[in-house]
Amino acid sequence: MKAHLVLLLYCLAVVQCDYGDLDGAENFGSGDFEWNEMREQCPGRAQSPIALDTYATVLGVERRPLELLGYQENPSQVVVTNNGYLAVYTFEYPNGQVITARGGPLRGTFQFDSLHFHWGEDSDRGAEHVVDGRRYAMEMHLVFYNTMYGSFMGARNQTNGLAVLGIFFNSTNTDVNYGWIPALSEVRTAGTSYTLPDPTVFNIKGLIGARRRPYYSYHGSLTTPPCFETVTWLVQRKPLPISEEQLDYFRSLRDGNGNPLVDNYRELQPINGRTVYFYPSDFRTRGK
Ligand SMILES: [Zn+2]
Repeated sequence: MKAHLVLLLYCLAVVQCDYGDLDGAENFGSGDFEWNEMREQCPGRAQSPIALDTYATVLGVERRPLELLGYQENPSQVVVTNNGYLAVYTFEYPNGQVITARGGPLRGTFQFDSLHFHWGEDSDRGAEHVVDGRRYAMEMHLVFYNTMYGSFMGARNQTNGLAVLGIFFNSTNTDVNYGWIPALSEVRTAGTSYTLPDPTVFNIKGLIGARRRPYYSYHGSLTTPPCFETVTWLVQRKPLPISEEQLDYFRSLRDGNGNPLVDNYRELQPINGRTVYFYPSDFRTRGK
């Protein structure tokens, strides 16, 4: 995690960087992310995001449930960074503890690296994945790497290297207390980071809850260059609530050119015959 952060800070310092962070945001800091260029750079046939159509999915059967381990802990440090393209949160836990994911469609154990957000200028867009024709206002990506590769950078271009848990946010009138959002006002300028004064305001289990189902899973890619097709996607169907006031904290960020940092989601990619699995909420063996 630390090596990743160092590299991230290095990239911020040099403004333009070949290193693809997280989803691989390559030009972060430059503020002129070119989606057209991206089409040329990312010609693969297993790209993300995609439109998730429940009726076209295959029922997923878990040999063991998808689990997150360690995510109930309060972090000892949380840093938010505006990298000119995304808002990224990185975490440290007491005694070097880590969060891992396993089970469900995952083959192996995956370690949590960081999380970031994609959002829209308006709440009719912002999320990367579309679910049954609906695009939510925001999508959070929790990025994990396969522990057999040792680091995010070591894993990102490896077969079965990454897993990303996607969670939607739906604009509502409900003002849920997300104590980690106001910190965004400290990183309006691209290339800035801020350490939250109270890291315990960002308890990941407190945010996303204990239940993972229902969710979709498919094989795809990072959604920014270099677009490696190494990601087991886990996309939760049920959104979390967020208010317009809270979304405005994200929309107040600026890119590297000083323009509003909004609509930082990639266009939908062709499915190309890939299977999308659906793990429904009420699929239980209990009582049998
Ligand atoms: Zn992402």
